Amino acid sequence: MSETVDNALVDTVEGRCPVCGREIPEGADITAEHDAQSYRLCSPECRTAFLEAPVRYVGNTAS
Ligand SMILES: [Zn+2]
Repeated sequence: MSETVDNALVDTVEGRCPVCGREIPEGADITAEHDAQSYRLCSPECRTAFLEAPVRYVGNTAS
């Protein structure tokens, strides 16, 4: 029995901007909150876009 867990729940929220998909620049301290979670954004522009429609970027977490 051998299992690989490569595809198990990859959380792309940390480390990457959910809006544009780029890596968060070192030292960038731009965050936005949605659904009781904090997300890091790469730029103020992305933060604005994220806050306007967070579900669009992080998926609909509501059931
Ligand atoms: Zn971005």
